[in-house]
Amino acid sequence: MKLHQILRNVEKFRTVFDFGGRDVAHWFPGHMAKGIKQMRSNLRNVDCIIEIHDARIPFSGRNPLFQETLDVRPHVLILNKMDLADLSRKKRILQKLQRDGVKNVLFTDCLKQRDDSINNLVPTVMDVIGNTERFNRDEITNYCVMVIGVPNVGKSSLINALRRTNLKKGRASRVGGEPGITKAVLTKIQVCERPIIYLLDTPGVLNPKIENIETGLKLALCGTILDHLVGEDIIADYLLYSLNRLQKFSYVEKYELQGPCDDIQKVLKHIAVKIGKTKRVKAITGIGNITVTVPDFTSAAYDFIRCFRKGELGQVMLD
Ligand code: GDP
Repeated sequence: MKLHQILRNVEKFRTVFDFGGRDVAHWFPGHMAKGIKQMRSNLRNVDCIIEIHDARIPFSGRNPLFQETLDVRPHVLILNKMDLADLSRKKRILQKLQRDGVKNVLFTDCLKQRDDSINNLVPTVMDVIGNTERFNRDEITNYCVMVIGVPNVGKSSLINALRRTNLKKGRASRVGGEPGITKAVLTKIQVCERPIIYLLDTPGVLNPKIENIETGLKLALCGTILDHLVGEDIIADYLLYSLNRLQKFSYVEKYELQGPCDDIQKVLKHIAVKIGKTKRVKAITGIGNITVTVPDFTSAAYDFIRCFRKGELGQVMLD
């Protein structure tokens, strides 16, 4: 297809997504609502919260409840998976967060062996604690921080990265995990010596705040809501819509399509054939039973979503 033809086609693509009257009420399981209650007791001794969220959705799905409910004011926001995010408008993101009262923000890639932001995290936490009147008292000699966030944003990866960073320097030591210490004592990792800062080894899980279906779909795309609750077909369609809207057309090359396309059925059919996911099904016709080959749309949708989550379809900003 010629470039001008492609551009003419793209102009006809959807500019709004039809959510088809879906309901988000069942998109996250009720058991997660318990999270905050359980966390409240753990958080009694926490001096600073490290909230982690997906950098591709810096404004969507963060749960502000913990600040109101838990009364832990010092707070650092980590926008993780920066390797998957299009951060060309980073400044605007930071400005908007600042307007919303989020001042301490770091972008991280927790899978990278050496990430400067991870190295900066402990000093940032120290600053934040130091600047908070409530905690800036001489008699307090050690502090405790905790990582919280919605599912799958990288809480465990961050804890591991911090452990790795600090263990390498021979500073971090695990406490509370030894035999004889009751299980009720949470395991802590020391991540700073002066002042002594401990990090709780167990992250707090928040349920995402799903204000509307679009937020739900963004969260689903980033893997924070179980796929089957939302439906792979609609996640894949929303992905296609988003990639086209953002003019991220690397899916065309990846799946060897003829050009950008706005029709999810066509795209999935093509993907199914390309990755060899077709099913043979029996069909009854006037001339008897025959076996026909049909594309496996669900497998194709999975492949499309998985490639996106691995970053193979380019970096995006969904907010
Ligand atoms: P948790 O559920 O919040 O504890 O999240 P995990 O730490 O288990 O991470 C969820 C998934 O995201 C895992 O597959 C990680 O490998 C992946 N992940 C975590 N951090 C990053 C990151 O910075 N970049 C990328 N690309 N993937 C990440």
